[in-house]
Amino acid sequence: MKVTVVGAGIMGMSVAWALERDGHQVTVYEQGEIPNPLGSSVDQQRLIRFPYGSELGYTRMVADAYRAWEQLWRDLGKQLYIETGTLVLAPAGQNWAHDSAANLDKLGISVQWLETQELQRTFPLLRFDGVESAFYLDSGGVLLAEEIIATMLQYLDKKGVKFHTQTLVREVDLENAQIVLENGNRVNADILIIAAGPWVERLLLDFSQRVTPSRQVLVYLRSPADKIGQWAKIPMVLDIDPKCGFYLVPPVAGTNIKAADHSFTLTGNPDCDRIAMEEEARTIYQLCQQRLQDFDHYQLQNARTCFYTVAPQEHFIVESRGKSWLMSGFSGHGFKFGALLGLAVAETIAGHRTPEQLSHWAAGNISYPGASHFFKNTQTLEG
Ligand SMILES: Cc1cc2nc3c(=O)[nH]c(=O)nc-3n(C[C@H](O)[C@H](O)[C@H](O)COP(=O)(O)OP(=O)(O)OC[C@H]3O[C@@H](n4cnc5c(N)ncnc54)[C@H](O)[C@@H]3O)c2cc1C
Repeated sequence: MKVTVVGAGIMGMSVAWALERDGHQVTVYEQGEIPNPLGSSVDQQRLIRFPYGSELGYTRMVADAYRAWEQLWRDLGKQLYIETGTLVLAPAGQNWAHDSAANLDKLGISVQWLETQELQRTFPLLRFDGVESAFYLDSGGVLLAEEIIATMLQYLDKKGVKFHTQTLVREVDLENAQIVLENGNRVNADILIIAAGPWVERLLLDFSQRVTPSRQVLVYLRSPADKIGQWAKIPMVLDIDPKCGFYLVPPVAGTNIKAADHSFTLTGNPDCDRIAMEEEARTIYQLCQQRLQDFDHYQLQNARTCFYTVAPQEHFIVESRGKSWLMSGFSGHGFKFGALLGLAVAETIAGHRTPEQLSHWAAGNISYPGASHFFKNTQTLEG
């Protein structure tokens, strides 16, 4: 079938990949370049990790997400993932770490709890002020996000997927899988996929009630030269609770240390509010100061903005309407599931699941029977 994809972030690229594998004729429209540095998917790093607080549905999806990435690495002939391990801090009175550990236990994944003194001995570059304990997992790491999108572009281009960059889609007709370009040209297909990130409400008006673009600020730091070697043994650090969502990404493959606060701003326009203010960056540097020993020795590199597309409870929206499929609401945790969601949409289009099952599962809802086995024994993932 003829497929149009709007948006070349990780969702649009992944669905293009999965549908091309199934023999469809795919064309992708992107308003910017690919990778588009203004899109939510484009940065050097995105994290994948098992701990997910009380969200059992998403905790279960992570194993399948890893399997989907492995399929992609096989196709690309290149692994664009670096394992770092995961350290989840449990500050006094906060539940996120304990909820995560409880859900991991249900899945048979045991974590290693460490008390403050042991933490300090094991991870001497970090500070643990106010932390009662923390747990460590060997799994989890960095997906080299921008390189993944760039490599998928090269691969899919060779496979015959057509890409139109700097091409804004102005209107969509979901019932008929038709798009209208800025120059007024109409393009028809059998299937239309909309994966427009924080710009979705410009194409689908009702989405202004369902998702909120959220401008987030992140900072990059350079490690002192004498500590670079030690950073190889430092995992990603998650210090997540309802009041603060601090996370720190260690340097891998030549990247800098990255840090940010996952708490939503729920404001901003993805076309305009792109410059990070000094004051905003300072707030995150202060959080880094609480977590890094000898913080003054680190060089503050730069700060930038990126937009989440936030849906209620951060639950993903993947649904069918007419001849179209809508992929939205991936908030600050969608990248890790990109390859998996691409395969899931393709599987549903192939008739192996109903659209309702897909939506339910993508929303992290575990009451769908057999959700944990969603991909078990399916042709798509078994190769
Ligand atoms: C700072 C930050 C940190 C994050 N960290 C993580 C993490 O560690 N782990 C994780 O799993 N997730 C993380 N996320 C979330 C994850 O990156 C996003 O959920 C995911 O990238 C969303 O992908 P997308 O394809 O939906 O959107 P996008 O990447 O924004 O892609 C949408 C694309 O559509 C194009 N487009 C939009 N409208 C049109 C139009 N009308 N015509 C043509 N093209 C159009 C846009 O230009 C854009 O390229 C993070 C996000 C941010 C911002």
